[in-house]
Amino acid sequence: MHSFEFATAQQILFGPGKITQLPALAAQHALRGCMVITGSSSARVQTVIDLLTHSGVEVTIFCVASEPSVSMLREAVAMAVAARCDGVVAIGGGSVLDTGKAVAALLRNTEDIFEYLEVIGKGRPLEHPSAPCIAVPTTSGTGAEVTRNAVLFSPEHAVKVSLRSVSMLPVAAIVDPELTREVPPATTAASGMDALTQLIEPYTSRRANPLTDALCVEAIPLAARALLKAFHDGADMEARASMSLASLFGGLALANSGLGVVHGFAGPLGGMFDAPHGAICAAILPHGMEANIAHLKRSPTSEAAAILQRYRVVARLLTGRDAAQPEDGVLFVHELSRELQIPSLAKFGMGPEHAKEVVEKSARASSMKANPVTLSNEELTEVYLHSL
Ligand SMILES: [Zn+2]
Repeated sequence: MHSFEFATAQQILFGPGKITQLPALAAQHALRGCMVITGSSSARVQTVIDLLTHSGVEVTIFCVASEPSVSMLREAVAMAVAARCDGVVAIGGGSVLDTGKAVAALLRNTEDIFEYLEVIGKGRPLEHPSAPCIAVPTTSGTGAEVTRNAVLFSPEHAVKVSLRSVSMLPVAAIVDPELTREVPPATTAASGMDALTQLIEPYTSRRANPLTDALCVEAIPLAARALLKAFHDGADMEARASMSLASLFGGLALANSGLGVVHGFAGPLGGMFDAPHGAICAAILPHGMEANIAHLKRSPTSEAAAILQRYRVVARLLTGRDAAQPEDGVLFVHELSRELQIPSLAKFGMGPEHAKEVVEKSARASSMKANPVTLSNEELTEVYLHSL
């Protein structure tokens, strides 16, 4: 058996009502002044802020209105420093959680952010551990509460890049399904398909390991059964809890085993077009799986046979049928996207004329390196064109 490593948040609290433990966690990490990062000013978030202020924590609020950018991050850090915040509570979707992890990192690593950014910066490692960050997801999709990077948008470069370090893992993740109760159907659909993608890709990744395998095998059927229920009836708390768990397990899996072709495309496309990450993943997932399976079927090696067997397991877990073949998994995902009314990529302005640029950027994306096979530019072009 090959060797592997696994790292995650120091503490994970899962279950309905777990949010009430936030003040105790804040005390445990000695947070006296704390920046609460949020995407909205909803009653749900206000309840969390009240929990903190009633327990004597001085709260500074920072609202993330869009995907985090380098300039937004600088603004948040300056505000946190001025207010003498000694930690961060991030409550929201993936963008909010990423902002929270990045602010916590930059509170302790005080050089200019471009020193640390990969691709468009110097990519220097973060020297100091992050300030304490408590991550509270309010959507079921990104798993960002247990990942070690923050995706940031740089408008002048038109790319998304990561600030990344194992020390950016939050000190605690509170995954409370009650917080997802009011997520609207379209967001439930897109983020849920992201969660499903983040379970299928790590399971078939080059870097898959027995620990993340166990998480994926447990959670793929949960997502496959619960997503439509949560989409049609947001108050179905059993379905919501299944999706929260699936999202968490996806985050744990991808942070330790990587992703694949779908996220290889999703990164660059998210930088070039204004489209929800989950909707991009949902549109590409069946075609990415199809291309990998076709490539594996043409290869006579035992490694290829072993990965093909993994796609067979995915198909069984998705469909619940023992005799399911890899292609049945592709069909299942297709059908699920259709029922969830996921818009096509063309709706976001993506067209065949962008194929060359998209494929060039995607082929170099870090997620692509974990894809089980190396797809040629022709194969990648086909995946993109079929996803439009
Ligand atoms: Zn994703």
